[in-house]
Amino acid sequence: MKLLVTGGAGFIGSNFVMYMLDQHPDYEIINVDALTYAGNLENLKSLENNTRHTFVKADITDAAEMDRLISQGVDIVVNFAAESHVDRSILEPDVFVRTNVNGTLALLEAAKKHHITKFVQVSTDEVYGSLGPTGLFTEETPLQPNSPYSASKAGGDLLVRAYHETFGLPVNITRCSNNYGPYQFPEKLIPLMISHALADKTLPVYGDGLNIRDWLYVEDHCSAIDLVIHQGRNGEVYNIGGNNERTNVHIVKTILEQLGKPDSLIKYVQDRPGHDRRYGIDPAKTMSELGWKSKHTFETGIKETIHWYLDNQEWWTRIQSGVYQQYYAKQYGSR
Ligand code: NAD
Repeated sequence: MKLLVTGGAGFIGSNFVMYMLDQHPDYEIINVDALTYAGNLENLKSLENNTRHTFVKADITDAAEMDRLISQGVDIVVNFAAESHVDRSILEPDVFVRTNVNGTLALLEAAKKHHITKFVQVSTDEVYGSLGPTGLFTEETPLQPNSPYSASKAGGDLLVRAYHETFGLPVNITRCSNNYGPYQFPEKLIPLMISHALADKTLPVYGDGLNIRDWLYVEDHCSAIDLVIHQGRNGEVYNIGGNNERTNVHIVKTILEQLGKPDSLIKYVQDRPGHDRRYGIDPAKTMSELGWKSKHTFETGIKETIHWYLDNQEWWTRIQSGVYQQYYAKQYGSR
């Protein structure tokens, strides 16, 4: 099998590429990534001498290049490439539409032309909007995106659906909850808080800190996508979630406790506009149809994640010394 994986130098994509090469010793992967601020080739260091992995720096909106790459005997396309940070989408929404909508379209066109056997669109539970205190997102929940990020992801998802309905393209859409684990860019909640706690810097928490997210360890996400690729019924959406709903402040306090740092480092900051209150995902369909089960609870996953960030401080301090800091100052001011 030959896979084209997009966004494979990012957080989940790089974990997925390593997972698939490990699980399927006969698979080859073409890894396409534009290396935006979020793409980091250092994530793929362990694959430097792996002849089954080819990295190509390219933009998924480049239709001719996507056509050329997919024409090289690609069987399966897995699309992770995206602008993925909600805060950035509030500041500069246009690049989100470009990559998340137009980029998906370029991939779909090439996939259709070259008769691939599966197209998996990796999407997010954020397309469903926000939940009240009860209930869970199912695959039937209407799409009600609230941020430019989630709206652009919903746009991409709808094109994927339409390519199945109109052209019979064999597609699946996966929608998952918040991922965490190794190689997550240090602007996202968990690595941001770990890095600040280690440096005894304040930990900025939005609003009252009681927004709830449903946390999924990245390796569990990868194993679910592997099952979707091989067993997913064409045209179907599969929700992937770890049944690990936690408030943001619980996450932050867990990190502080595990690192032996005081809660006084927490600083509540003005809430993000349109901040969804609660996400909770119902993965029952993925579990019953595909036999998927997450291996990690939040408690085991956060321990492994903290260890990884402690063991790989060079990885994230190199990121923090670049563009990231200018962005951070724009977002939170200097502190
Ligand atoms: P990420 O930001 O870490 O990685 C995205 C990657 O895409 C980067 O390597 C970047 O260089 C690349 N990219 C961006 N624009 C591109 C373009 N135009 N052409 C080619 N490459 C481009 O994101 P992530 O957290 O790994 O998320 C991967 C996917 O999973 C995204 O589609 C995201 O919407 C989805 N998702 C993520 C989460 C999460 O918690 N991280 C949750 C739900 C869904």
